[in-house]
Amino acid sequence: MKPITDLIHHSYQPPGDFASPQVPVYKASSVFFNTVEDMRSRQWLDKSGYTYGLHGTPTTFILEERLSQLDGAKHCVLLPSGLAALAQVNLAFLKAGDEILMPDNAYGPLKTLAEGELAAWGVGHHYYDPMDAADLASRITPATKLVWLEAPGSVTLEFPDLLGLLAVCKQNQVLTALDNTWGAGLAFQPFDLQPGQSTLGVDISVHALTKYPSGGGDVLMGSVTTCRDDLAQALKLSHMRLGFGVSGNDVELVLRSLSSMALRYAAQDQTCRAVAAWCLSQSDFAKVLHPAVVGSPGHDHWRRLCAADATDEAAVHSGGRAASLLSLRFQPQMTRQQVDSFCNALKLFKLGYSWAGPISLVVPYEVQTMRRLAAEGMWQGGFVRLAMGLEDPQDLIADLTQALHHMRASA
Ligand SMILES: *Cc1c(COP(=O)(O)O)cnc(C)c1O
Repeated sequence: MKPITDLIHHSYQPPGDFASPQVPVYKASSVFFNTVEDMRSRQWLDKSGYTYGLHGTPTTFILEERLSQLDGAKHCVLLPSGLAALAQVNLAFLKAGDEILMPDNAYGPLKTLAEGELAAWGVGHHYYDPMDAADLASRITPATKLVWLEAPGSVTLEFPDLLGLLAVCKQNQVLTALDNTWGAGLAFQPFDLQPGQSTLGVDISVHALTKYPSGGGDVLMGSVTTCRDDLAQALKLSHMRLGFGVSGNDVELVLRSLSSMALRYAAQDQTCRAVAAWCLSQSDFAKVLHPAVVGSPGHDHWRRLCAADATDEAAVHSGGRAASLLSLRFQPQMTRQQVDSFCNALKLFKLGYSWAGPISLVVPYEVQTMRRLAAEGMWQGGFVRLAMGLEDPQDLIADLTQALHHMRASA
């Protein structure tokens, strides 16, 4: 053989007993078979073998199994972003003539997908009030094939009565899918919402792994998990036909961060509650929205699901678990320019989308324009969402303090 062929088909094999903390990165388009019989018989669907890079590698299988473990699920598929994971669920289970229901406070791009592609393909959609199970019940029709859930809502952070909403869906035998990015598999168990008491849970859980599981602000990935074999089969086959793949290098980053996720979640939660407690004492804010804040919409539902054994009654409930998002409504007299100047004056909080990375973030929102069911004027006024990073809470509070001074001076 010529030297360049030898270079490619080199016979050296390293010893096989290498063991170290992190999962190795396997990457492939082609995967080799030993014989034609082997090629024809090998199965990827049940994870008994490897057939093509898109259908899984040891690295992606390991992440899928660990995410199943985290969610209390049996099956998992990986997608190139959280939004792609939301899309995958719709694409796997819906056809023309079907309808979906989404909470009015759902993750914005899910609404955009329903109003764009899904509508163009003949899949209808309606919104429901996530804080009213009777409203959900009144909107279910024979065409309703999927109900989306989110706990809490993405920007306004109202925590729904997940058990009540699920009971309505079960009664009507409608498939349920939860965007579980906020809970991250840590705040509550999506497939077993009252451990030991009942088996009430969602059918499907979706994560934007981009958030806590990555934790670095540098990876985009999503997952869909389920306990049901029939749903997993349909998801995997749809996933295969659509050709959604993820990079082995990105999977490596998520696997590396996954081991510290619970610690980061807890630390960022504590920071967020310290900042929330401080915000409650500031007269510039008309409302502090965070599920653990007493009086924040759905606080009692959060408490029942995520802090059932906690007893304290402080203004910011210190038990249980919550993600590190906090939204603030400014006093009505605050102009949009003033709210913009507050955001521009922040130094540690960067202006940017996403959350759960090391750097704190701020985004101003026009909530009124995002709602389909809210009464005229209900969400008018200045509104920002803060996402806590890993900085010291006192430094974050100092940053907010100086930005409030700046805002008042700009009046
Ligand atoms: C960020 C996010 C997503 C989408 O994740 P991407 O990876 O950015 O596409 C979906 N749902 C929620 C609740 C999110 O916060």
